[in-house]
Amino acid sequence: MSLVEVKVPDIGDFSDVPVIELFVKVGDTIKVDDAIATLESDKATMDVPSSAAGVIKEVRVALGDRVGEGKVLIVVEADGAGASPAPAAAAAPAAAAAPAAAAVAAPAAASHGGAADVEYDMVVLGAGPGGYSAAFRAADLGLKTAIIERYATLGGVCLNVGCIPSKALLHVAAVVEEAEHVSVAGVSFAKPSVDVDALRAHKDKVVGKLTGGLSGMAKGRKVDVIRGYGSFLDPNHIEVEETTGSAQDKTGVKKVVKFKQCIIAAGSAAVHLPFIPRDPRIVDSTGALELRFVPAKMLVIGGGIIGLEMATVYSTLGARVDVVEMMDGLMQGPDRDAVKVWEKQNASRFDKIMLKTKTVGVEAKEDGLYVTFEGEGVSPEPVKYDMILQSAGRAPNGKKIGAEKAGVIVGDRGFIPVDAQMRTNVPHIFAIGDVVGQPMLAHKAVHEAHVAAEVAAGHKAAFDATVIPGVAYTHPEVAWVGYTEAQAKAEGKKVETAKFPWAASGRAIANGADYGFTKLIFDAETHRVIGGTIVGPSAGDMIGEVCLAIEMGADAVDIGKTIHPHPTLGETVGMAAEVAHGSCTDVPPARKK
Ligand code: FAD
Repeated sequence: MSLVEVKVPDIGDFSDVPVIELFVKVGDTIKVDDAIATLESDKATMDVPSSAAGVIKEVRVALGDRVGEGKVLIVVEADGAGASPAPAAAAAPAAAAAPAAAAVAAPAAASHGGAADVEYDMVVLGAGPGGYSAAFRAADLGLKTAIIERYATLGGVCLNVGCIPSKALLHVAAVVEEAEHVSVAGVSFAKPSVDVDALRAHKDKVVGKLTGGLSGMAKGRKVDVIRGYGSFLDPNHIEVEETTGSAQDKTGVKKVVKFKQCIIAAGSAAVHLPFIPRDPRIVDSTGALELRFVPAKMLVIGGGIIGLEMATVYSTLGARVDVVEMMDGLMQGPDRDAVKVWEKQNASRFDKIMLKTKTVGVEAKEDGLYVTFEGEGVSPEPVKYDMILQSAGRAPNGKKIGAEKAGVIVGDRGFIPVDAQMRTNVPHIFAIGDVVGQPMLAHKAVHEAHVAAEVAAGHKAAFDATVIPGVAYTHPEVAWVGYTEAQAKAEGKKVETAKFPWAASGRAIANGADYGFTKLIFDAETHRVIGGTIVGPSAGDMIGEVCLAIEMGADAVDIGKTIHPHPTLGETVGMAAEVAHGSCTDVPPARKK
């Protein structure tokens, strides 16, 4: 018997994430791949599986603790074959996921005895940003390719009910707020009148333009789109049950698709809290984006990015919004100094922000939705709302595609483990995007898609990105990448931090955004930039430069000596680098040490 420490595996860009559920206690017997805890990043929840089997001797985390890669969660007295060197990494991102079969036995694959209706070199299951990018890249590299998608349009969550429609609405909200703001410059507009039907039509038009464009590009590349719900029959066949209409009504017509290689890009779905009743006034992000009506009083359950983006839209349209969050802060992920700036700018937006508070009951009555909370200082009586947005995370769709018939391992919570080439444990079946792990972001899915397609086409490729940026497209935006100060502190890593306050940026002052800042974090030994946080308008557009600098191994001189256009918000990145090497002439002189 030996004692084995089970640690948090690489969870991608998220380094300081709270433990929101703990499934184990001292004395429990645990098996390899059993869930130890659930961590909640800013966009979703993820389970950490055990890499060891045996009896738990110590639990080294508590609910609410913030953890990152390498943090010991439990100590296990391992039974005989208990300790596995590689975690199953059910929640780990592609960059670090262990070879899929390392810790979990693969399910026995089925065998489809029948014929196939069509046959392809490459079949991609799911047409989100991961799926369509994989299919298009595979086709560009010469593979005869098809995409299977259950919905009428391509683009998945991101284009249809995620990134794009939310940004179309957030843009309108920003314009409304900007129009209000210019009254300080002597220009006043009348209070806006909102035509919700026209606004919805505008958002649908934006989405339609993009999804229509994708259809055209699929045709242009000779990628066949097979409409229907796909489910594996065995390691080389998928049965597609045709769907119709704007939803996924099944027609009963079935088709068998044979493939040489396959990429699973089945994405994720919003988590529905079990105690919340089904009621048309209770929506997830998809329902909120339908913009059926603007409620007088709205509750957002979950203070992550998706919840706060939707709260921004609805409050600008006139709803009074409360936010309830189990953790001790909103918007997990970025450093708290950035979130504080956001909080100050949004103080008037919310009636109540209830932190460290649980929603424990919802009763749907004719006159409203009555919600009971548990936490410090919350109303003991149920509070009435006209609409509730549930945004308590997203769960992968890995368990809904018959993967076991293909012999593909799916972790406890539906994530599919992959290696750095995005291969599952079945070498000719790849998986990418939300279904393989955190962070659940479109740009990660697309990057993984290209890796999988290139590997499938025989190219040398692997997921070796150093960082994946995160952005809250709120007002103001908060964007971060790589190390945060909090992460560096938690890891005891020596860093140098340089912050350029936008109060010293001519453009930020001109734009009424002098409250923002740009912060860069450098490795104290190598002096290379390893992280950055920006808060202010267009922060999401600017963080790309910091990503590039990190990937290229740039130091403060490289960034500071790059001539940035003036006057722009983007030059604050260069100026933060100048602050780091003491050459910035736009801030007061550094104090002599
Ligand atoms: P998905 O986009 O989920 O696509 C999966 C596709 O597979 C779907 O079309 C689904 O219908 C199809 N499918 C699944 N199973 C089957 C089956 N059995 N048969 C046939 N078809 C199937 N990310 C960002 O980077 N930036 C943002 O600003 C951003 N904003 C967001 C806002 C909201 C409100 C939400 C909900 C998400 C947002 N995201 C954002 C996350 C982003 O949408 C996802 O990370 C991204 O869509 C994942 O892409 P994917 O290809 O892995 O999966």
